[in-house]
Amino acid sequence: MTFDHLGLSADILRAVAEEGYTEPTPIQEEAIPLVLAGRDLLAAAQTGTGKTAAFTLPILERLKVHANTSFSPARHPVRALMVTPTRELAMQIAESVGAYGRHVPLRSAVVYGGIPIDPQIKALRSGIEILVATPGRLMDHVGQRTVNLTQVEILVLDEADRMLDMGFIPDIRKIVALLPAKRQNLLFSATFSEEIRRLAQEFLNDPATVEVAARNTAAEGVEQVLYPVDRDRKEDLLIHLIRRDKMEQVLIFTRTKLAASRLASYLDRRGVAAIAIHSDRSQPERTRALEDFKRGEVTCLVATDVASRGLDIEELPYVVNFELPFEPQDYIHRIGRTGRAGSTGIAISLVTVDEVELLKGVQRLLKHAIPFRVAEGFEPDRSVVPRPIRGFGSRDGAAGGDGPRHHAHHKPIRTRTGSRRG
Ligand code: AMP
Repeated sequence: MTFDHLGLSADILRAVAEEGYTEPTPIQEEAIPLVLAGRDLLAAAQTGTGKTAAFTLPILERLKVHANTSFSPARHPVRALMVTPTRELAMQIAESVGAYGRHVPLRSAVVYGGIPIDPQIKALRSGIEILVATPGRLMDHVGQRTVNLTQVEILVLDEADRMLDMGFIPDIRKIVALLPAKRQNLLFSATFSEEIRRLAQEFLNDPATVEVAARNTAAEGVEQVLYPVDRDRKEDLLIHLIRRDKMEQVLIFTRTKLAASRLASYLDRRGVAAIAIHSDRSQPERTRALEDFKRGEVTCLVATDVASRGLDIEELPYVVNFELPFEPQDYIHRIGRTGRAGSTGIAISLVTVDEVELLKGVQRLLKHAIPFRVAEGFEPDRSVVPRPIRGFGSRDGAAGGDGPRHHAHHKPIRTRTGSRRG
């Protein structure tokens, strides 16, 4: 199967070829013809499946009739609105829109929080057909009347499950109320929970359903392995594995911001270049960290679950769960960062006796056990008694996690400065 048969025109196919894509991914193969036909879509696809192109390519195609080179902003109303939960995802989508649309004279802009609003206002004023936005900053623009959404023809809700987790749905409702009633709606979510199905009923009109990976299954092409280890030897085991396997690019997950910062400085001190990325960092800091990692200047990027969403890193060879997540779903999201788009990857979990309950939760979701290995010199002491993990079981986020998440569905998340996340 090539891209030629999907109904995309030459200028878009040229951009796809320039990206180096030769074959559509399964989600692209299924979704592109449906979106071109004007259908609403409910799509289950995780990051890494090629979902961004699956909605962006047909949207560019559909909006092409409006492409014009007029200098008048009035000739460039927002016609497609792509809403996504995090800044990183927003940047990544905007980059894709730019790349795939480079031969089509449509204009796009991206708005997200954590950076000054004025340049965004200027971009919106100049007139753009495609707007990529995080909900919080989009609401700010709506409040300041710096964006007009009355001519939107296509709405994309990307990572809808995350938006639900992060408490963005009330904002989404307000945004949707500003759009024309007659429009095309595309909803993407890593999983189809009951809540997602309800959202689909609320926002979509007779949608076609596309599901590429079976529900709650880990990405194929990911080799999973688990190392049991003593509490106070995790850091050293990690360094041992990085050196032994000559890992050059490792994405490491911790449960909390504090653990991420601590681990990154520990690794750094021990001569393994590492940097932490989490939601307390400013946007330029996060962008710089990601760039350094992508360029190979730092070996380890240490991230929390919230911060990791939307990090677009191609063919990441290693993901390490330095700490297992509280939510089993997050394990699947995490390991989905390796073995992307056809390449294979290795997902390593370092597990102490304290985390056995978390491990059981993950294995129940996977419906299989993760194979384990013992690293020589790191054999765990079997007589150690488990200790409760701070924050697990209590639902107040007091463990210093990266923001309240799965249990705060109806509350917009605010960062310490009082600005809305995203
Ligand atoms: P996404 O799931 O949209 O985050 O995309 C994951 C990665 O796959 C991105 O780095 C894309 O550049 C890449 N990608 C998307 N479509 C294709 C394709 N048809 N062939 C190869 N790589 C692709």
